Amino acid sequence: MKAKVAFLHGPKDLRVEEVEVPKIKPDQVLVKTGATGICGSDVECYEGESAEGRYDLGPYTPGHEWGGEIVEVGADAARNFKVGNKVTGDCVMACGVCPTCKDGRMPSACENMREIGFRPDSPGAFGEYMVVEEQYVHKIPDHWTYADGAWVETFSIGYFGIWGNGGHIDASDIAIILGGGPVGLSATMVAATSGAKTIVVDPLNIRRDTAMKYGADVVVDPSEGNFLEKIMDLTNGHGGDVCVECSGNDTAIASLFDIAAHSGRVGLIGHSIGRKVPVEIGKTIWHTMNIRGSGGTKDFGQRTIRFMDRIYDKFDFAALNTHHFNFKDLHEAMDVAIHKKNEALKVMLNFD
Ligand SMILES: [Zn+2]
Ligand SMILES: [Zn+2]
Repeated sequence: MKAKVAFLHGPKDLRVEEVEVPKIKPDQVLVKTGATGICGSDVECYEGESAEGRYDLGPYTPGHEWGGEIVEVGADAARNFKVGNKVTGDCVMACGVCPTCKDGRMPSACENMREIGFRPDSPGAFGEYMVVEEQYVHKIPDHWTYADGAWVETFSIGYFGIWGNGGHIDASDIAIILGGGPVGLSATMVAATSGAKTIVVDPLNIRRDTAMKYGADVVVDPSEGNFLEKIMDLTNGHGGDVCVECSGNDTAIASLFDIAAHSGRVGLIGHSIGRKVPVEIGKTIWHTMNIRGSGGTKDFGQRTIRFMDRIYDKFDFAALNTHHFNFKDLHEAMDVAIHKKNEALKVMLNFD
């Protein structure tokens, strides 16, 4: 069987090619792609601004935010999956058997790590079909759309960052979320659901408005007035008990050391690799800060799906997809994701 699949050959060189769909192995499933989200990191790789996309190893198929339907199941995978299951999958693929995996460390530490949609050995969902090991696949509820499935990976990053990775946010906390993009909004929905007072910070009007619809109690424009004063006013002078940085912006990162409460739990999620950011490091001591980096997630797919399903009627997941394109208009979709970053919260590719 032949299928149309996109390959990133190098910066700004994304080609849709007709290729033979590989035969599946016993532990794999064949998925017919239903929807694929374009992530900020896909754009960075496309523009040649990120070392994450490994086209230096060979052309690869991007797409790590996806939902689809199983159309063929390998003999071993048939224990857990069947044809017709609606599914999504993990991005970082740990082998599970190397010494680091057996140590229980993060998937990103795996000595044989693959990353779906970033490397030739783990093709992503910018294509009509994809082959993936059952180990990394999760069923989604039948009443979800494929685009909802494509949100699971993004949501898991925000959820893990604000709760799973030591955040453990609850109704006694004040949460400050820096950045109202897809990951920041996911963290916002988790914070709001926990009952915490939820403050979202973003310089863009449209993102602050969206945050109010997805659970923020109050939004702050950091570019206006005295930011620190505003945060202290909103937190009775204490700062945030749980602060997560989802923007990757240097000023936002540095501000964490001023806005976190004493013994605050601080999570770094936004991309900032490859540069040094000056911060007042002494405050980690005097404020007994607990700082954790969130590089992906660990064992978070299943519970993310349960969480999203529980809040499914409370938040409008469909409205998060501000732009839709058919896969045949992939280049047009990429163009919007690249040039309309501010208004395009999520560009979603749909398949026939
Ligand atoms: Zn992503
Ligand atoms: Zn491993």
